[in-house]
Amino acid sequence: MPDDLSPSARATTLTDDPLSAPMAALHGVGPVRTAWLGAMGVHTIEDLLRHSPRAYADRRVITPVANVSPGEAVTLIGAVVRARALRLRHGNSIAEIILADDTGEIKLSFFGRGFLARALAPGTRMIVSGTAAPAAPLQLKGPEYEVLEDDNDDRLHAGRIVPVYRLGEKIPPRQFRAWVRQALDLLPETMADPLPGAILERHGFPSLRDAFREIHFPGAHEDAQRARERFAYEEFLSIQVRVLSSRARRRTLGRGVRHVTNGPLVRALRDALPFEPTAAQVRVIREILRDMGDPRPMGRLLQGDVGSGKTLVALHAIAAAADGDFQSAVMAPTEILARQHHATMRDALGPLGISVLLLTGATPGAAPRARAASGEAAVVVGTHALIQDSVAFKRLGLVIVDEQHRFGVAQRMRLAGKGDHPDVLHMTATPIPRTLAMTLYGAMDLCIIDELPPGRLPIKTRRVPPAKVDAMYAFLRDNAKAGQQAFVICPLIEESDTRALKAVTKHYQEISAGPLLSVATALVHGRMDTAEREDAMARFKAGQVAVLFSTTVIEVGIDIPNATVMIIEDAAQFGLTQLHQLRGRVGRGPHQSHCFLLGEPKTDDGMERLDVFCRVTDGFELAEHDLRLRGPGELHGFRQSGLGELKAANLVQDIRLLEAARRDVQEALELDPALTSSAWSGLNRYRPAG
Ligand code: ADP
Ligand code: MG
Repeated sequence: MPDDLSPSARATTLTDDPLSAPMAALHGVGPVRTAWLGAMGVHTIEDLLRHSPRAYADRRVITPVANVSPGEAVTLIGAVVRARALRLRHGNSIAEIILADDTGEIKLSFFGRGFLARALAPGTRMIVSGTAAPAAPLQLKGPEYEVLEDDNDDRLHAGRIVPVYRLGEKIPPRQFRAWVRQALDLLPETMADPLPGAILERHGFPSLRDAFREIHFPGAHEDAQRARERFAYEEFLSIQVRVLSSRARRRTLGRGVRHVTNGPLVRALRDALPFEPTAAQVRVIREILRDMGDPRPMGRLLQGDVGSGKTLVALHAIAAAADGDFQSAVMAPTEILARQHHATMRDALGPLGISVLLLTGATPGAAPRARAASGEAAVVVGTHALIQDSVAFKRLGLVIVDEQHRFGVAQRMRLAGKGDHPDVLHMTATPIPRTLAMTLYGAMDLCIIDELPPGRLPIKTRRVPPAKVDAMYAFLRDNAKAGQQAFVICPLIEESDTRALKAVTKHYQEISAGPLLSVATALVHGRMDTAEREDAMARFKAGQVAVLFSTTVIEVGIDIPNATVMIIEDAAQFGLTQLHQLRGRVGRGPHQSHCFLLGEPKTDDGMERLDVFCRVTDGFELAEHDLRLRGPGELHGFRQSGLGELKAANLVQDIRLLEAARRDVQEALELDPALTSSAWSGLNRYRPAG
């Protein structure tokens, strides 16, 4: 059976819309190759054309063999005149190929690939790129090469900037290039472009047709770059159409609450503050109150590093809701955090006459639920327990979700569903690079507290080599004598890992019976029962315990101003973002704090991560480094987001394009909310259904 469709079958598949034609419509693509291509996600001509080169080989200049000088990077075309395989010791082999053109001969050697001597038999024409050895005899070691079959091959694979693709093992690069060439030749002179003409013009992007041509077979490197930018922009644009449409829908569909924003309780809260809010707090509070005063439902994400003072912002929003007699719900991911929020909020709001109720899984009895349902409790602080069916509110006007990424979308929506389009404020202490925030959380309005309250001393961070560990414990003993406290964090990655749990427990026992014998210590981990854990935490908070050994269960938001030392065992196990969260548990009081990193990184990346961490204290900057070092896949929320689909765009380099795409979509949605006018209708292909 020929590996081809019949000419007439091909003609019918290709009418009108060549982009959606199957790959089988091309010459040389039969069932077998269709399967190979399918495994790479290439099913249609459009998939093929959107499979951009991962790199380019500049083969514009072909050097005559006689002109090759030692150490020079060259591309040659010639025919094989001799080929032999040499066996080396240890089972290695080497292929030596002599290549000739009209001007001379040169040796190519392929270490470890003796089998090539047979594949590249005399007479084989090939194109070769590599760097000539620095000294005689003249040769290219392990050059890139391709076999050339005819004149047409010469034009496609040489004498130009040639695309290099990421391909499955089975597909020869030459073959793939030839398919791309065929596909490009099928494109009609004028074709529909999903990007509006105004956008192309605004950014100087090539049309879809030109972009396909330039990204695969560019005349110059700048052409390829412009085409790549167009495709990157298009990817960002499709995400922004999706997230901003859902933002627009929230704002037009729901008639939410118009809160009073300068009522007596907000003013009383402001007057009672024991400190001056930072400029960033003032700005963010103003933004949030402005949203709350608007009848459209608020959906905001407040980002602020650990200790930046997000609670104060939450308190203002709650006071505003209470001024209009609306209830607020505050949901935190753990019992410990819920209790801490409850205590802080009760202390701040109680004196103003705003009642604050704690409602967690551990809260017994029906009475507290009755106080929420009757509206007697103005603020209900709790854990996941808040979304249970048994919890109801009388007039829920504000929902605050702390550490929002710890909850699923459905959970957050269920809580909001207990009111009639309440305003929602999400908070997070996990800094997210701006590009990611705009894509992951683009449906929300973002605000950032990018400033810490004054007077905080930056935490000193250092790696501790094994020889210095004793000195570190001595420091810890002195520290405890001076009345200050410390955490020792052991990396228990999974709370269910009993072996690791034993390791933590053992480490705790050894150290507290050894170097820290004279110091009051305690252990906390996720598999202790709540009462036991609460007890240890309470003793630590009260200062009766000087050194707390813990797994990562200790929450980011835990506020213990007297804790000044953070020791992280096996620090290279953690990502930068997580290290930063751990470090954020100290440095909250007036004393100098220290963070000590133990363990030797096993990889260069691990080493660089710890070096960066010792140098940088700003959470957002660390998050950018994390994005660069580990890629977006490692950052929370990314895998679930569908952003893994990004092909042309790069979240590290293309921030300018992302911002442009977001601005453009915002403007389009303002002018034409349904995106129906001819100028914008192309964008509708990116819109979510419903
Ligand atoms: P986070 O953003 O981590 O939730 P908190 O709201 O818990 O931070 O605030 C951390 C600490 O800083 C608290 O003890 C709080 O009282 C204090 N704080 C907040 N804002 C200010 C400010 N403007 N000036 C001084 N201290 C502040
Ligand atoms: Mg907090």
